[in-house]
Amino acid sequence: MANGGTDRTIIIGGFGAAGASLALALVRGGVEPGAITVFDANPDSDQAPDKPDARILALNAGSRRYLEALGAWEKLADQAYPMRSIAISDTGLEEGIRPRLLDMEPEAEGGPLAHLVALGRLNHVLRGLCRDAGIEVLKGRYSGRTASSTAIEVRIDAETRRARLLVGADGARSAIRTMAGIPMHGWPYGQTAIVATIRHSLPHHGEGAQHFLPSGPFALLPLDEYRSSIVWSERAEKAAEMLAASPAERKRAISARAAGWRGDILEVEAVSSHPLQLALARRFVGERIALVADAAHVVHPLAGQGLNLGFEDCAMLAELVVERLRAGLDPGMPDLLETYQARRRPAAAAMGYAMEGMNRLFSNDSGPLRVMRDAGVGLVNRMPGLKQRLMKAASGQTGLSPRLFRGEAL
Ligand SMILES: Cc1cc2nc3c(=O)[nH]c(=O)nc-3n(C[C@H](O)[C@H](O)[C@H](O)COP(=O)(O)OP(=O)(O)OC[C@H]3O[C@@H](n4cnc5c(N)ncnc54)[C@H](O)[C@@H]3O)c2cc1C
Repeated sequence: MANGGTDRTIIIGGFGAAGASLALALVRGGVEPGAITVFDANPDSDQAPDKPDARILALNAGSRRYLEALGAWEKLADQAYPMRSIAISDTGLEEGIRPRLLDMEPEAEGGPLAHLVALGRLNHVLRGLCRDAGIEVLKGRYSGRTASSTAIEVRIDAETRRARLLVGADGARSAIRTMAGIPMHGWPYGQTAIVATIRHSLPHHGEGAQHFLPSGPFALLPLDEYRSSIVWSERAEKAAEMLAASPAERKRAISARAAGWRGDILEVEAVSSHPLQLALARRFVGERIALVADAAHVVHPLAGQGLNLGFEDCAMLAELVVERLRAGLDPGMPDLLETYQARRRPAAAAMGYAMEGMNRLFSNDSGPLRVMRDAGVGLVNRMPGLKQRLMKAASGQTGLSPRLFRGEAL
């Protein structure tokens, strides 16, 4: 497909997992690589060997199918660890055992609940495939745009490029969103996620755990047999204290939260921290602009849905743009942008508020609340139909999912 008379058909701001995957999805859909430019303030950050990103992401079945269609999964599969089930508990910090309140075991549905993949590796693979495909990648910072009825002029440092559509994939602090005057709705959680990799004395057999503790959820996500990734959401002040603590003290605190899960914790490595917030863009689109992934929404990581939602945005936008270009039409027109927003914003809002609700419901020490929530969750556990529907929604496999998420070609 040709680029329709402007310098480029599409310019993507942000070369993270979302931006890089979108560029590839467009090419896989038949858009000429020469019709796409991606720019990023730091497009080579995945090459820095001294700065590994310790964040491990749970990617659902829809994301896996999306990455398969892009040719990325085959490069990730040898270090993508399946999580076959997850046990959920709701106890106080001091309680020595964490009884299972709910089990999520979707294996009967035809695959693991999720695969765990290192974000640094994911970025590296997706960026490499974009370069191999001949997509132009510029190093530069977004500095503004001027849109008209026929094109958008995008300023990248001192350079100006023209396109039909600008995609904001520039992360939670998106300058593309801010300069388009699109406000965010949301608030900080007052929690910080401490992420680390632990080595334990017993094998996990592909099982994860989510302990809802009064100060925030504590997740253990299985990597190779004796290693797991933890995402420990903690009140911000306590998290700062833990980050400043000695490694031995931190290991003790992690052991207390894990309460003997898979034996003793032998080692804690690759510790990083992330302040948590809920943020939802009031609009996912502007004049010749579409926002995807963290530029459009940031949700609590307690169900590991952030990038899964982001990939679904990209798959949906790619589907709409490819359809439009095949018909020889302009992909930056308001009707396409409205359709994109109508299909993606409600899904992101529903997930964001569901995570907000769960975090509020569980992150406290109220006795009566615990009785109520445990009765509710216990009911879900005994209703297989409802449980399967919840798991289907979390795995990105509903009838509303984009084609690439359903394993269909563009
Ligand atoms: C603790 C934690 C655990 C998580 N766990 C999961 C999980 O299990 N599963 C899941 O699906 N999601 C998870 N997430 C969410 C996931 O990490 C994010 O949704 C995802 O990494 C966002 O990718 P992105 O490409 O949108 O943004 P980013 O990775 O932030 O990429 C944005 C890019 O834009 C560039 N950029 C920014 N500003 C500019 C500018 N002005 N000009 C040019 N370039 C710019 C940056 O350099 C960067 O390369 C988790 C998040 C956290 C914090």
